[in-house]
Order: sequence, then structure tokens, then C-alpha cells
Amino acid sequence: MNTTIIDGKSTAERVRNELRTAIEDLKQAGHTPGLAVVLVGEDPASRVYVNSKVKACEELGIYSQKWALPAQTSQEELLRLIDQLNRDERIHGILVQSPPPPHIDEAAVVLSIDPRKDVDGFHPVNVAKLVLEDSSGFVPCTPLGCMELLKQYGVSTQGKHAVIIGRSMIVGKPMAHLLMSKAANATVTIAHSRTHDLAGLCRTADILVAAVGRPGLVTAPFIKPGAVVLDVGINRVEDASRPRGYRIVGDVEFDSVAPLCSAITPVPGGVGPMTIAMLMANTVKACRQITARG
Ligand code: NDP
Repeated sequence: MNTTIIDGKSTAERVRNELRTAIEDLKQAGHTPGLAVVLVGEDPASRVYVNSKVKACEELGIYSQKWALPAQTSQEELLRLIDQLNRDERIHGILVQSPPPPHIDEAAVVLSIDPRKDVDGFHPVNVAKLVLEDSSGFVPCTPLGCMELLKQYGVSTQGKHAVIIGRSMIVGKPMAHLLMSKAANATVTIAHSRTHDLAGLCRTADILVAAVGRPGLVTAPFIKPGAVVLDVGINRVEDASRPRGYRIVGDVEFDSVAPLCSAITPVPGGVGPMTIAMLMANTVKACRQITARG
């Protein structure tokens, strides 16, 4: 099989280039898109994610605020900050890095964000808009990035059978809604940890999305020859040959699966780079929508 390796890095760069023009247009009209990123606690991975989001803003000329709050920040203090950001006219997007410390009620935090500024797409209003196919809503960045990859690589979803492994609110469920929408018209099956004969089900997929968090779960017997495979998984596996002592792999056993596919995303360098690019896109969209209302 002549397999296309779907390049998330260059596709994300293309998205960023389109955004540069959109941001310039907004600035010409007197509006600078603004994103507030809130981190509670010291989780090292979250710190890295937050820093890369702020850096992405700086590179595009998006105004950003980084709020790094101590782990003992109370729920009330956090909600007060979100209320302040909801009312801050320089801020069009608000993101609270997940997961917060255990004493914080994450659902209450999500609910407190103005849905018009909920660029993560987690607020129930935006979940409803996704289901209703109302394009004014915000869609979670990772599935949005997956759809952009399919679009940029000319993968038709019309009438195709898409199987998604994973049913989280962040990836699996929104991905299912995007693929079954009238814009994409795929026939969608969602699999999860209780699914029987996962390999057999996946082998019926024209498009297979793995969003599980289990390194190498998807192997050659899962693949219908010619399928398109999107690997969302980000897993650390020990690797003594690497200076850090680990390497990042996806949910798909790339070496055995890739030769069977018509197209596949690698990890790293596939879906991952798209997530932050789509966050930037959502922030620009929020700015456009908020400022258009005056
Ligand atoms: P969750 O843990 O929230 O969801 C995992 C899903 O996989 C669940 O629905 C679970 O089923 C299902 N699952 C677990 N084990 C199996 C199994 N053996 N067979 C079939 N299904 C199984 O994870 P997320 O959706 O948040 O993330 C998934 C992966 O994607 C992770 O590796 C994460 O790091 C990565 N990720 C990557 C992003 C990116 O930017 N590229 C962004 C977000 C996540 P059940 O519901 O029954 O428990």
C-alpha cells in the first residue's frame, strides 16, 4: 500500500498562516484577539501545555494572559478570576488547564466560563451547539484538528464507516458528532472499554480514530486495508535509549499498521500539533463573534 503519512506539523503551520491574515484583519478593525490561560497547581505536563499555548499566542500576535495559581487556590478564588476574565474586554477566550487539583470542581469551573469565551468547547451550551450543528459554538480543539487533517488531506467522509475508539467528552464524543454531522455524513460507531470484538469492529472501519490512551492497542488485525487511521493517543513509554528515559507513542502500533493504511497520522507529529493550532482558531473565532456583536 502506498501510505500517506499525514503531517500534522505542516498542516498546523498552514492553519496558523491562515490565522495570521484573519488576525491582521481583526487588528485593522481595532480588535486584537485575546486568550487567558489559567493553570492551578504545579503539574509539570500542564505547565508545559500552558506555556506552549501562550507561546503560540505570541507567535501569532494574539494577546495572552497567563494565570499560574498555587495548588491551594480555592474554588471561590478560581471562580472569581473566571468572572473577572468573563468581563475583561481584552479577553475573548478562556481556558482552564485540565486536570485541576482534586479539591476543584471542574464541572462548576466549566459552567462558570462565558460560553462565548469557552474556546475549549466544554461548556454545556457549546456541547449542545455541536449536537445541534450550530456553527456559532466552539468544538473541542483535538477533534476539530482531526477534521481539519481529513479536510486538508482530501479524505472524503461521505458515507464512510468511521469507528472511534474512546468516548470522552474531550475527544471521542465530539469526534463522533463531527463525523456524523450533515457536513461530513459518515456513519459512526463508537467503541469503548466494554466493546466486544474490538479488532473485528475496527476492521469494518474506513476511517479509524484511536483516542484511548493505551500504547499500541491498535494492531494490524484491526485494520481494513486502505483505511485512514487517526491516532490521537499520547502515551509515555520507557525508553532507556532516550535522554529523558521515555518516548511518546500513540495508541496505534505504527510500524505494523501503517503499511496497511491509505493514510495515517504519526505520533508525535500528527494530531498533536493540530490541537494548539485549533485553539488559536477558536480564539480568533471568539474574537470575531464577540466584537461583531459590539
Ligand atoms: P479518556 O481516558 O477520557 O478516555 C479513554 C477512552 O478509551 C474511554 O472511553 C475508554 O472507555 C476507552 N478505552 C480504554 N481502554 C480501552 C480498551 N482497552 N479498549 C477500548 N476502549 C478503551 O481519554 P481522552 O479521550 O482524554 O484521551 C485519549 C488519548 O488521547 C490519551 O492518550 C490522551 O493523552 C490523548 N489526547 C491527545 C490529545 C492531543 O492533543 N493529541 C488531546 C487529548 C487527549 P470507557 O469509556 O469504557 O472507560
